[in-house]
Amino acid sequence: MTGIFPELEYYKNNTMPTVFSGVAPSGVPHIGTYLGAIKNWLELQKDYQCIFCVVDLHAMTVPQEPQKLKSKILEVAKIYLAAGIDPAKSIIFVQSHVKEHTELCWILNTIARIPELERMTQFKDKSKEHKKDVNMGLFDYPVLMAADILLYKTQGVPVGEDQQQHVELARTLAERFNSKFGEIFVLPKALVRKEGARIMALDDPTKKMSKSAENPANYLALTDPPDVIREKIKKAVTDSGKEILVGPDKPALSNLLTIYSLFSNKSVGEIEKMYHGKGYADFKADLAEVIVDFLKPFQKKYNEFDDKEVLKILEKGASKAREIAGQTMSEVRKSVGLI
Ligand code: ATP
Ligand code: MG
Repeated sequence: MTGIFPELEYYKNNTMPTVFSGVAPSGVPHIGTYLGAIKNWLELQKDYQCIFCVVDLHAMTVPQEPQKLKSKILEVAKIYLAAGIDPAKSIIFVQSHVKEHTELCWILNTIARIPELERMTQFKDKSKEHKKDVNMGLFDYPVLMAADILLYKTQGVPVGEDQQQHVELARTLAERFNSKFGEIFVLPKALVRKEGARIMALDDPTKKMSKSAENPANYLALTDPPDVIREKIKKAVTDSGKEILVGPDKPALSNLLTIYSLFSNKSVGEIEKMYHGKGYADFKADLAEVIVDFLKPFQKKYNEFDDKEVLKILEKGASKAREIAGQTMSEVRKSVGLI
């Protein structure tokens, strides 16, 4: 059994815990997505019933172009597969293929409170980013996410730190629903690992690395070719001083050392020692190679997938997901009084 998330142990005495997570097919999936979320999924799929969703309806809450959305959906699915998510073990599917997600979202909307949603950090940030298009979908994003999670009676939701607040809301809604209408939902917990939970932007270590960042210097995309990675690392912001150390006064170096550590499986302390007395140029050149080496086999697999093959996997996944989601929805409908 995996020990990375001891909070799941609690459920083991009776049933196999269910784990659910997703990535929105918006922008460019980056190493933050991988280190904060997907890397942990690989561990979890060994021991738990895992459900990994391409959350396409979430991607529509900010301005989007249909042709791009279409290709991004497959891109995210290929990223799951190339990273090592195994469709024989885990369910991989597209959110909009299982209509129960939007149906449950509506029902949860009737118990979610407006001030609760107004408090969501992501809503506040994204409203500022898209001032002219603060749409209802963006506001309701966390309720749809709660529906995604609760439909599968999920116990664990492996996410980066930025999504923790949304998982807490899902838990609040599950509790409220259960106390009003009967014990239908499991109360989910966010599974956030300390290391990698918040990878910062390369051009500004005070902001998180983000798919929707306008400047590509913000992120290292999982699909960036080796030369682009070398160039971006070379240009990455550093701190004042010369030492290669982690510290509260060294946000940029702390971030680069975390990335180095997670891709090389060496501890940060070990890496600090390796570069004692050396300069940023040596450190950055090696870091770029560590990332390039890690991404090489991943990108090879990613490029070999055929769209048709991926669509088949997604269809199979959706039919498995529908079975579980359909069962939950029939319990929900009955409990709220729908006939
Ligand atoms: P967007 O800017 O469009 O919201 P995103 O980069 O936040 O994109 P999501 O699809 O929203 O990506 O998130 C996918 C998963 O990756 C979530 O679990 C999220 O918490 C995690 N994640 C996203 N960015 C980071 C980051 N910089 N560090 C660690 N984890 C991250
Ligand atoms: Mg996000």
